[in-house]
Amino acid sequence: MNSYMKKVILVTVAMLCALCSSAQIKPMKEFVDDLMARMTVQEKIGQLNLLPDGAVQTGISENSPMMEVIVKGELGGVLNLKDMEDILGLQKTIVTKSRLGIPLIFGLDVIHGYETVFPIPLALSCSWDIPAIEQSARIAAKEATADGICWTYSPMVDIALDARWGRIAEGNGEDPYLGSQIAKAMVRGYQGSDNQHFATDELMACVKHYALYGGAEAGRDYNTVDMSRIRMFNQYFPPYKAAVEAGVGSLMTSFNVVDYIPATANKWLVDEVLRQQWKFDGFVVTDYGAIAEMVSHGMGDLQSCAAQALKAGTDMDMCAEAYTKTLEQSLKEGKVSMSDIDKACRRMLEAKYKLGLFEDPYRYCDFSRRSKDIYTLEHRQAARDLAAETFVLLKNEAQVLPLKKQGKVALIGPMADCIYNYGTWSVAATYRTGTLREAMQRALQGKAELLYAQGSNFCHDAEIQENGAFYRRLPRGDDAQMKQEALAIARQADVIVCAMGEEQEMTGECASRSDLEMPDVQRELLAELVKLGKPLVLLNYAGRPTVLTWESENVPAILNVWFGGSEGSDAICDVLFGDKVPSGRLTVSMPRTTGQEPLYYNHLPTGRPVAEDTKKFEKFKSNYLDVSNDPLYPFGYGLSYTTFEYGELVLNSSEMALDGSITAMIKVTNTGDWDADEVVQLYIHDVAASISRPVKELKGFERIHLKAGESRDVSFKITPDMLKFYNYNLEYVLEPGEFEVMAGPDSSLGHLCKASFIVR
Ligand code: BGC
Repeated sequence: MNSYMKKVILVTVAMLCALCSSAQIKPMKEFVDDLMARMTVQEKIGQLNLLPDGAVQTGISENSPMMEVIVKGELGGVLNLKDMEDILGLQKTIVTKSRLGIPLIFGLDVIHGYETVFPIPLALSCSWDIPAIEQSARIAAKEATADGICWTYSPMVDIALDARWGRIAEGNGEDPYLGSQIAKAMVRGYQGSDNQHFATDELMACVKHYALYGGAEAGRDYNTVDMSRIRMFNQYFPPYKAAVEAGVGSLMTSFNVVDYIPATANKWLVDEVLRQQWKFDGFVVTDYGAIAEMVSHGMGDLQSCAAQALKAGTDMDMCAEAYTKTLEQSLKEGKVSMSDIDKACRRMLEAKYKLGLFEDPYRYCDFSRRSKDIYTLEHRQAARDLAAETFVLLKNEAQVLPLKKQGKVALIGPMADCIYNYGTWSVAATYRTGTLREAMQRALQGKAELLYAQGSNFCHDAEIQENGAFYRRLPRGDDAQMKQEALAIARQADVIVCAMGEEQEMTGECASRSDLEMPDVQRELLAELVKLGKPLVLLNYAGRPTVLTWESENVPAILNVWFGGSEGSDAICDVLFGDKVPSGRLTVSMPRTTGQEPLYYNHLPTGRPVAEDTKKFEKFKSNYLDVSNDPLYPFGYGLSYTTFEYGELVLNSSEMALDGSITAMIKVTNTGDWDADEVVQLYIHDVAASISRPVKELKGFERIHLKAGESRDVSFKITPDMLKFYNYNLEYVLEPGEFEVMAGPDSSLGHLCKASFIVR
């Protein structure tokens, strides 16, 4: 049968099935009660089973032969399929061949877009553009649902303070307040406004990785986390909680231990905090194979681990088959109860009900949408515009940037003509758009001559390069020869653009680095190019804050471009050649040396602090012998082609009642020649409290657009919620006393205007 015939038959089947099943169904509780009354124990446990299939690989275990479990109705969902024909095929089999015909839920990591790929989440956070981030999730939902997917493993909201951890790329940086705003926006974007009834272009979101995954010791993925509960509640929990408050439909547990118990089986974490305190009413899924990994954590055999996970309140087992292999036995032995199984099964059925799968199991398999809703010009334009907002201009000596479209431009570096520049979680992408070299060719067509040389490998060591490539292997050449070619074209050029840094898979899962400097051979080439003394721009490709100390001292202009998604290369050209003005601001502190990690702006003061901006070592103070404490580029930092000036910070009162509010206002003026966006940031410091409090915390921000010469008064209402914290007894309190307010363009004290007030 040819593929056209196959498609016609599948579409007809889908339409027929939709017709038979789209009848009105009972309200959720009644419907689920009725269904569960007819289910066997095996079928109930089957609902808790999630297996991988398809070409996308996101974990260690192999695809499982699933036909047998499907016809027995012992499968709840499938992940990693990216093909509507396959999805429809499996759905049809379970609906028509299993006893009760309970539909499957199909999940995929749609994390920064689907076919239209947006920049990596860390980059997105640097836009500080919440509506645009929400829109990116909306577009991802529209595209993924047009291809049969109804559930995404996003948003990832783990706070990460250690740049060695590769998964810092997947989150929103180091700040819990900004992270919470983004978490909510992503949930809204994926799920739309009604979390009880999903439309066919809405995806169920899954907030992850609950909890504290970003706290892995030494930045090594999957490593131990050990943290006080005060820190959990004040610094790490807020984004998960925000996603729950936004109505996220599901949540994924993390691989790590929390209080020495793997998160997947931590009853305090899942049942008490998540469900009882935060009132989460969705379902909880494990991360990939996490129940089986509990055996390595030393928690007992598979049967005992599965029982612990279920009793903790973890409903769905991703890829470990631990529930299907052991729960029946545990039930017989009294290690789990029927009520434990029922609770989990009910939550799975409720999710499917909310997704409308009982009304129509094929509602996400609309072939007509596939051709019109994916990778559209409108979606790509949105991705391009947002990508341009994520780039952070770190340095621009003598206004090297923007470049003029004239003369000869030499484009050099291993990222310049590399197709794999979308970012770590572009698993659904088919890489239809090309490289930076191609984008630059388009941008300069008829105006300037583009010269190109790869210049170097990613690093001298082929094995390390290979480790960082994952399955996207990049061809290697002879470094000495490539360097000569690069120098030859650079000598002819008027300006040199270096596309260097990390390869795409050097961040993301299992991509920790112990050295965050520019990889050796690239730095060597860069140094040679700098010696030519020509205008030179470094486009730093990175999925994490990298160490750019040498570059900041020697390279005239640095634009941190992260990994910009499918439209990232065009967006880079937009900014490079001045069609757009850079406006990204760092959401992670960029270190001077790797040894400063974990590095973050909202740290505690310690009893022996040094002045925030001091460069001088002080004996018996909390500092290093060989480097200052401050970052090379601070949280919130980013330059523009224009300049902004801040006036004084004015409070409308020096006192605030415990249940009152005050207003802080600051004038911002665009003093340069370009119309541009600025991110005005508000920080607060609680001067004295019952526990030690951070030196400052972001509590508000506004992204504003100012024409050249224009001024605006930006005001922030300071409310009790912005001053509250979890105290020693984990009570959420506002303690009276003095608070400092700071406002300005970034988090460094020298750039902030200050005022203070008293809460009585
Ligand atoms: C990752 C998750 C991901 C899951 C499913 C795991 O390896 O940790 O973030 O959602 O795989 O692909």
